Amino acid sequence: MTDPKQSVRAQAAPQTFHVKSFGCQMNVYDGERMAEMLGARGMTAAADGVDADLVVLNTCHIREKAVDRVYSDIGRLRRDDGSRPMIAVAGCVAQAEGAEITRRTKAVDIVVGPQAYHRLPGLIEDALAGRAAVDTDMPLISKFDALPARGRQARSSAFLTVQEGCDKFCTYCVVPYTRGAEVSRPWADVVNEARALVDAGVREITLLGQNVNAWTGVDEKGRTQGLDGLIRTLDALSGLARIRYTTSHPNDMTEGLIRAHADVAKLMPYLHLPVQSGSDRILKAMNRSHTRDSYLRLLERVRAARPDIALSGDFIVGFPGESDAEFEETLSLVREVSYAAAFSFKYSPRPGTPAADMDGQVAAQVMDERLQRLQAAIGDGQYAFNQATVGKRMIILLERNGRHPGQLIGKSPWLQSVFVEAGDAARIGDMIEVDIVSAGPNSLGGALTARQAA
Ligand code: SAM
Ligand code: SF4
Repeated sequence: MTDPKQSVRAQAAPQTFHVKSFGCQMNVYDGERMAEMLGARGMTAAADGVDADLVVLNTCHIREKAVDRVYSDIGRLRRDDGSRPMIAVAGCVAQAEGAEITRRTKAVDIVVGPQAYHRLPGLIEDALAGRAAVDTDMPLISKFDALPARGRQARSSAFLTVQEGCDKFCTYCVVPYTRGAEVSRPWADVVNEARALVDAGVREITLLGQNVNAWTGVDEKGRTQGLDGLIRTLDALSGLARIRYTTSHPNDMTEGLIRAHADVAKLMPYLHLPVQSGSDRILKAMNRSHTRDSYLRLLERVRAARPDIALSGDFIVGFPGESDAEFEETLSLVREVSYAAAFSFKYSPRPGTPAADMDGQVAAQVMDERLQRLQAAIGDGQYAFNQATVGKRMIILLERNGRHPGQLIGKSPWLQSVFVEAGDAARIGDMIEVDIVSAGPNSLGGALTARQAA
């Protein structure tokens, strides 16, 4: 229960809101759906830099640092006059810590887990009435059924969550506890949402899931389909130009999905396939159920199907017991694969996960050094990949304005940011042809082709 002295119950119902999402793309998607739901209830999004009546912190629990940020953000929401907005903590911290959050800080009015956020309007009523407003249920009725249909979209590229939760139980990871068991959204729901996004002007859809390639559903003819079947159906949506998916688990990379990379033109040549470590002993301790070799052989098959595919991955350094030699195996894997991009993290012990109680926790300084070396190796690969695109002609999807007038930023098929001086010749949402004229570590420079500029 919130402290009556500090609660917002004396306030009127919130009219404006701000949703701030941390962490993964699935949180970004959830944040957008919450905003759409609050909008459908008559509330309006607060303009940038303007105080909102309700602030939703859509949190991430994957690493300790992400959790700490939530509490410092809550502190910063206090206004100069001592008042504060209504505060809702959503996302995985809400799921993991529940009512403990309102005990730890009296400033929080609402706690709502990632499977219950469709109930946010009711929780706002509860908070206004001074009732406890904590909901971390994982109801059988899907939140998706209770959310408003997708309306006009501000972006040309949209996320679409198709799968949630995880049954893999990697020993370091909280996701199976915070997001629950692996669940696939039904075929018709996903296809209808994709269609609504395209009708709303979206040109690119990224299908999301903690293990998106484990998605399975039954199509309108009663056939069981995997992610590849879904991708082939979305391929037929006229108006949709690009399809991507993330995040995949190596064990769920089916032959059908690999084949889709060979013959679905709208499926972009990019695969995010986390491996976490290059050492078999560490992979086993992580309960990853793939080896270095099986991962490399899988990449060979993917590259055979789509030779120009860009690869990306996730890595953890300093998993308990990781020796210098085992870390070197991760470095050598990075050099062998030559990733176009990758995320790397210091191991963060998460309460309740098996690895948190393992012997051999690695010292912070050792983790820092390993992370720096790993990021340097990943950066070298990324820079080399970017440089190899100089001189190529490609289509980019324009996504946002650059820093000065006439400059636009788009995405290459390989997920690189491309800066282009387009003047009045193009606008956000357009797909334009450019020649790549320069490459930096994190982006490319493009020039409109003569045909495009004409
Ligand atoms: N399902 C995906 C997979 O199998 O790799 C990853 C999803 S997870 C939300 C995203 C990434 O966070 C993981 O790939 C891992 O690298 C990182 N991660 C998860 N738990 C972590 C922990 N305890 N410490 C550091 N990084 C972690
Ligand atoms: Fe976490 Fe991914 Fe492992 Fe599932 S497969 S437990 S989400 S790292």
